[in-house]
Amino acid sequence: CATAAVAVTQRLKVRAQKCTARKILVEFQEACETPLPRLRQVVDAMAVEMHAGLVSEGGSKLKMLPTFIDRLPNGSEKGLYYAVDLGGTNFRVLRVQLGGLEGRVIKQEYEEVAIPPELMLGTSEQLFHFIAKELAGFVAREGEEFRLGDGQSREIGFTFSFPCKQTAVNSGTLLQWTKGFKVNDAIGQDVVAALQKCIERLGCKMRIAALVNDTVGTLAGGRYWNNDVMIAVILGTGTNACYVERAESISKWTGELPKSGQMVINMEWGNFWSSHLPRTYVDELLDSESLHPGEYGFEKMISGMYLGDCVRRVLVRMAQEAGIFGPHVPHTLLESFSLQTPEMSRMHHDDSSDLKVVAEVLKRLYGIQNTTVGIRKIVVAVCDTTCQRGARLAAAGIVGILKKIGRDGSTANGLMRRNDTNGIHDELSVNSTPGSGKTVVAMDGGLYEHYSKFRNYMQEAVRELLGDASKNVSIELSKDGSGIGAALLAASYAEYVPS
Ligand code: BGC
Ligand code: MG
Repeated sequence: CATAAVAVTQRLKVRAQKCTARKILVEFQEACETPLPRLRQVVDAMAVEMHAGLVSEGGSKLKMLPTFIDRLPNGSEKGLYYAVDLGGTNFRVLRVQLGGLEGRVIKQEYEEVAIPPELMLGTSEQLFHFIAKELAGFVAREGEEFRLGDGQSREIGFTFSFPCKQTAVNSGTLLQWTKGFKVNDAIGQDVVAALQKCIERLGCKMRIAALVNDTVGTLAGGRYWNNDVMIAVILGTGTNACYVERAESISKWTGELPKSGQMVINMEWGNFWSSHLPRTYVDELLDSESLHPGEYGFEKMISGMYLGDCVRRVLVRMAQEAGIFGPHVPHTLLESFSLQTPEMSRMHHDDSSDLKVVAEVLKRLYGIQNTTVGIRKIVVAVCDTTCQRGARLAAAGIVGILKKIGRDGSTANGLMRRNDTNGIHDELSVNSTPGSGKTVVAMDGGLYEHYSKFRNYMQEAVRELLGDASKNVSIELSKDGSGIGAALLAASYAEYVPS
């Protein structure tokens, strides 16, 4: 009888835990909701902020950085070019042989290494020396066929996935770090000059011809194959977008207007902010304990570096307040970033009836044993809510850009008339190619590539937002396009000497 009583108490306790956990879940779900009307407000806010960011320096949290790229690859690029690509997680060196319109990419080789974590928090000198050394090693290992003639120098596109204020196509100062990087003495430095100096010190004959954000590299790489590419988006460790803007619309631009009448704008949409965003206590905590508090709030709700940590923070609350993982909160669960987005994704995609994968991940990461299927379901629901919110916000961002360039179907034929309500539209859509009413978004990043539920939620939300117009928009994965894109831009701008 005593054992029966214990069993009953135990069962009641489990039920109470689940009930409290459910409450926490429902509260989180409600706070994360992105119904269509709300998403439309985010779309509008994005378009409005884009406009504001183009009008004046500091006019918006969207930096809307002119990239000095006023023409994109068209296929005629020829010759041997290099790219170095410093992303959020990996570093890559690449060599591309371009054969012009007939040959296109004749040969492409690359080497990739994970960025040593200590370099992300070290000094500028260490970081740029590392890049230069990898590059020099890559060149030293290459075959006879690549030997240069006297006086020749190799041209490099430098993909640098952080916000820079450019002063020319091949110079720009770092505005701030994002993601897992914090190399304080590099802020305000010309990153091209810093890398060029390290390259020369190693006795390497190479010249940086273009400084390229990864979004811009992806745009260039996409455009090389497809004329309808107007926008590029990265959904990876971080998130960002760039697009082709009419130069005349960039009121803050004081330089000469480019002949093409166009300019690629690096939005740095990770720093976008609007009161319409569904922000929760989790986002506040995550932000205040992050490497860059108060910055890049949109990125923190969307990108791969943060999604897993968002989930972890909800689980911590459930563990503390509902005891779902037993009487003690596992101490490793309290560690920031202990749940990474790939593990979150694995749990989210678990389609076994008893959620084996969820059990396995919780056990391996946190030593949590004997979870009930009910608790595992709650864990999956937290993943789902976090993933869906991020994906739908990214979709709203994309549709916001389409709206800004008049390709969201809100005006006939994608040709813009002035929009009388907010005046944010331009007279004419940019570079509308006659005959093709298509707009292609070149997409890259591990989050989009590997997290299929994220990708599906995002595509679904884009369709919801665009309605009929969605048949004219396609999102195309342009895997690792940013490296080759940077090499293509190096080819286009090889002779460019800033005045
Ligand atoms: C950076 C952007 C970059 C994006 C994707 C963000 O954190 O600020 O410059 O494009 O990550 O890598
Ligand atoms: Mg990358």
